[in-house]
Amino acid sequence: MVERRHGLVVALQANFCRVALDAPGPGGIKHLLCTRRTRLGKSGLQICVGDRVEVDGIDWVAGRAAVVALEPRQTLLTRPAVANVSRVVVVVSLVEPTLDPLQLCRFLATAEATGVPVELVLAKADLPPAETVQAWLERLETWGYAALAVSSHRGDGLECLRARLSQPGIVVVCGPSGVGKSSLLNALLPALALRVGSVSGRLQRGRHTTRHVELFPLAPAPGQAELALIADSPGFNRPELPADPQALASLFPELRWRLAQQSCRFSNCRHQGDPGCAMGTDWDRYALYGQCLREVEQAALHAQRSRSPAAGLRQRAGGLEPRLDPGLRRFSRRRSRQQLDADGSGLGEALSPPDRED
Ligand code: GDP
Ligand code: ZN
Repeated sequence: MVERRHGLVVALQANFCRVALDAPGPGGIKHLLCTRRTRLGKSGLQICVGDRVEVDGIDWVAGRAAVVALEPRQTLLTRPAVANVSRVVVVVSLVEPTLDPLQLCRFLATAEATGVPVELVLAKADLPPAETVQAWLERLETWGYAALAVSSHRGDGLECLRARLSQPGIVVVCGPSGVGKSSLLNALLPALALRVGSVSGRLQRGRHTTRHVELFPLAPAPGQAELALIADSPGFNRPELPADPQALASLFPELRWRLAQQSCRFSNCRHQGDPGCAMGTDWDRYALYGQCLREVEQAALHAQRSRSPAAGLRQRAGGLEPRLDPGLRRFSRRRSRQQLDADGSGLGEALSPPDRED
């Protein structure tokens, strides 16, 4: 009888994948190095870390087997390629590098777009004054996040983060370069820390960009079973906003929650001071949301123009001239008024240009 086993792909290594078995085999074997059968290859499906698979042709002595089936995925992240992610942790620091609120919004929106719960971590909490950290935690609460301040160097908040993450599932960590993601992963994942040894932070980043993603078990919080797996990868470093401007509001929790209780007067409301808007203008991310929205709208317009260039032109006496989308005309008038509102109310925050790193 052919013996088949189920397991989870925890790493890809050249043409092999390492599968953690749901139940240990003879002699307590927990992992098998598996090849992929051509049948799977022909179906066009690429196995990713985080995939649940079935293996057969098991050679317990050599610790080898072959993947014969892939279970349906719940979710698939493309950068990094990780299937079945159940939580995303966004890490930023207040200083070194200075927190850029717009960049943080982009990271949060990208994380929210996965549809799984998002945790927000303020790293290097040992550096800024405690009041600054507290003020930011309160500010982030109005954005809809119970953020956690941590310091990998001093140890603050690490056990709290471990407890928050100690639930079954796969966790992906993302955030700008240099905010302390590798240090945090090393503090949380003893198996990873062992492998990295005494390599400096800078080299660890290089290592991340050259290696495949791998899942490491989170050492459990006291009294909890070891269930969470964390992807050893800094995740998406260049956050992309959604292509559809209408989808942006659902990626801002404070907007999502308000709109679940109350609707704006117009269904295509931009929540930027529009008449009858349920959000009004008195919310912390009003200007930041506006900035993200304008960027998404411009990208959508650009995409529309490049799909059908002729649609953007109209015949005039002297030849062709650009045609203004009636919706856009409305947007641009509103926008100039909002700009004044924002300047007058002091909401227009000093924002640095969009993220250009890595
Ligand atoms: P990554 O690029 O996000 O992975 O960041 P690293 O973990 O490589 O850290 C970048 C730099 O920040 C390194 O020089 C770390 O020593 C430093 N760093 C990381 N965590 C902390 C912390 O909790 N406190 C302080 N003061 N520095 C930290
Ligand atoms: Zn609105």
